[in-house]
Amino acid sequence: MARKVLGYIELVWTCDSCGTRNPGAIKSCTACGAPQPIGVKFEKVDPDTFNFIKDEALVRQAQAGPDKHCPYCGTRNLAEAETCIKCGGDLTVGATSRPSGVILEDDAVPPQPQKTATQPEVAPQRKPLPKWALIVIALVLLACCVSGVVYFTRMSQTDQLDATVTQTYWQRQVALEAYQLVKANDWEDLIPPNANIYDCQLRHRYNSDTPVQDATEVCGEPYTVDTGTGFGEVAQDCYYEVYEYYCTYDTMQWVVINTLVEDGYGTNAIWPSTSLGMSQRLGTPTERYTITFTTNSGEYDYSTTDYNLFQQASQGSDWVIEVNGFGDVTSISREP
Ligand SMILES: [Zn+2]
Ligand SMILES: [Zn+2]
Repeated sequence: MARKVLGYIELVWTCDSCGTRNPGAIKSCTACGAPQPIGVKFEKVDPDTFNFIKDEALVRQAQAGPDKHCPYCGTRNLAEAETCIKCGGDLTVGATSRPSGVILEDDAVPPQPQKTATQPEVAPQRKPLPKWALIVIALVLLACCVSGVVYFTRMSQTDQLDATVTQTYWQRQVALEAYQLVKANDWEDLIPPNANIYDCQLRHRYNSDTPVQDATEVCGEPYTVDTGTGFGEVAQDCYYEVYEYYCTYDTMQWVVINTLVEDGYGTNAIWPSTSLGMSQRLGTPTERYTITFTTNSGEYDYSTTDYNLFQQASQGSDWVIEVNGFGDVTSISREP
């Protein structure tokens, strides 16, 4: 969020002794002469309006940093003062700076930016977790560790079994693609260069914390910050709604129009027969071979893309297979 300073306003403080309201920059009560107490609060003159000061010397004073109180007599001095205006005491050591940074309107609400995909979310401030929550987290972590150990133990626990091939099944696929006109939508800068753009609309794309050209500025209510000088800094928090063109376009693309499949039993696989039309091509072929083994402890399927291995798995041939704790076949080899 960008913070914009709109200007400075004079604040007031109320005398403890006689109740007179004094201008913020005045350091002793105008009615009774009592020095301004350290803890006194500055307030806005009028809670509903901002009467910006124009005098540049006063603006500089407002920007100079909080005033400080003399450690010897308590008199309020400007931030840059080195000796007290009243008693001449050294202000470089032991002086107390006035509190600053307090927002004088509690109802000022900064604008809430909408969440968008392109903007990283601001992490919310976290409260420290209660003790029981920490214990629960520790237990969950422990449970994860234990189940992880169990999982890997079972994975690595393998049995070697004598096995006989009882079935072999193969499946081969090829995608048939055509080069054709495709209608699509996207942000203008993401559209492929050869596309035919025919409809664009300005749309909200993301919010920026920093000013962006042609963006819509969204600002919250102005609020006054006590600078500790008797002047308030009036500021506003803003963000920028960035609008960009979102378009519909036509473009030529390769599109999958059909998937050709050939499958069967046995160990001799074939590819689907294809005849390409105009502006057509074949996509990446895929193959998958499944061997079913029978052992003393039941049936196991083994899937592979290795056609050479598959061709050795003739009906009734003898193999040694490794089975892990989950019943998955992890490797196979011909019986010597
Ligand atoms: Zn007074
Ligand atoms: Zn002093």
